[in-house]
Amino acid sequence: MNLTERDRQYLWHPYTQHKTAAVPIAIKKGKGALLWDENNKEYIDAIASWWVNPYGHSNTFIADAIYKQLTTLEHVLFGGFTHEPAVLVAEKLMEILPKNQQKIFFSDNGSTAVEIAIKVALQYFFNKGKKKTTIIAFEDSFHGDTFGAMAASGISFFVEAFQGMFIDVVRIPVPVKGLEQQSYDALHAVIKMHDCAGFIFEPLVQGAAGMVMYAPEALDVLLRICRENNVLTIADEVMTGFGKTGKTFATDYLVEKPDMMCLSKALTGGTIPMAITTFTQELFDAFYDDDINKALFHGHTFTANPTGCAAALASLALLQTNEMQANIVRVHQSHLEFEERVKNHPQVVTTRVLGVIFALEIKTESTASYYGTLRNKLYDFFIENGVILRPVGNIVYILPPYVITEEQLQKVYQVVEKALEIV
Ligand SMILES: *Cc1c(COP(=O)(O)O)cnc(C)c1O
Repeated sequence: MNLTERDRQYLWHPYTQHKTAAVPIAIKKGKGALLWDENNKEYIDAIASWWVNPYGHSNTFIADAIYKQLTTLEHVLFGGFTHEPAVLVAEKLMEILPKNQQKIFFSDNGSTAVEIAIKVALQYFFNKGKKKTTIIAFEDSFHGDTFGAMAASGISFFVEAFQGMFIDVVRIPVPVKGLEQQSYDALHAVIKMHDCAGFIFEPLVQGAAGMVMYAPEALDVLLRICRENNVLTIADEVMTGFGKTGKTFATDYLVEKPDMMCLSKALTGGTIPMAITTFTQELFDAFYDDDINKALFHGHTFTANPTGCAAALASLALLQTNEMQANIVRVHQSHLEFEERVKNHPQVVTTRVLGVIFALEIKTESTASYYGTLRNKLYDFFIENGVILRPVGNIVYILPPYVITEEQLQKVYQVVEKALEIV
């Protein structure tokens, strides 16, 4: 039996209807922006494997750091113990996070980073003896698949089966160009009508919604409204963090700073699952008390796993090299040139670029569903042509590893242009 057949016997894949889905592609090997399957077919990973892998596959710098850590101290519980890799990650992050972020809490994945931020927002007011239990989120947002994160997520068919079982979440429109005032008005209205504890958002780019982009000025207005009304703000930078928007964090484009930030995905360069939620001193202080009940009773077995911390440190070191920063600028420039080339194509409705993120919307007759016919046709076409791209409905986006070569990137563009001829 080949790998795909053995897979079918026991494995249950994410976001997959196994009855109708194509068999998964068995990947044997990766290097840089490239992956190879069991038949040695080569693919360009133009979405950095769900946005986790900016420094390339099988990166030996990160691998060496992991090996060194594994053979020094692979793990120790973080309750009652600490270790240098965790302290170093915290010290490093303090250099690059917005200055108001002063405390960090480790977990394992983006959903738990969000879960923790929501729990802290709710308990912050509980600890202060105030009743504020509603969370504000954007329409079509994505914050993960655990219950709190799911409640905050607005992509409806992901969460349909669980309606009525969630914490209270109210939604406001995303302030995309033209809808800014509507978004501000909606925020004012929900704050007036509900006891809002926090506002969670994907800053500047909504990834899973199809790289929907909006301006930092608009987000600043929303954050100011929250601050003036004592609503805590949570920047979910799980996707946008670590250079994807052209700055280290999307919040670096803002004047207002969030109270909390959620980090994961590229944090460890796609090696070890790890996430971090960051907080202001004021938030931490609301839990700091002689009363043990005011503590944050949350933790995970693998919290601050030293091997994960070593991977994060190596990844952060790579991000800060001149070479990596130059890669980010280069990919961005190439995206802009490609945008000029395709934006007037008759099949293209709109294009957008921020940092290394490029998205284009393809004209379609039918209302494009998330996993609709057009989407599947495009996906299959890209795979046949050796490029991994996962369109969201009629939106094709490119979010490559920063280390993608110019030649590989041009091949991705060519395949996208060819796809425009077949739709
Ligand atoms: C991927 C993602 C999450 C969830 O992260 P997981 O590691 O998949 O749990 C949360 N928020 C955003 C913005 C994401 O892109």
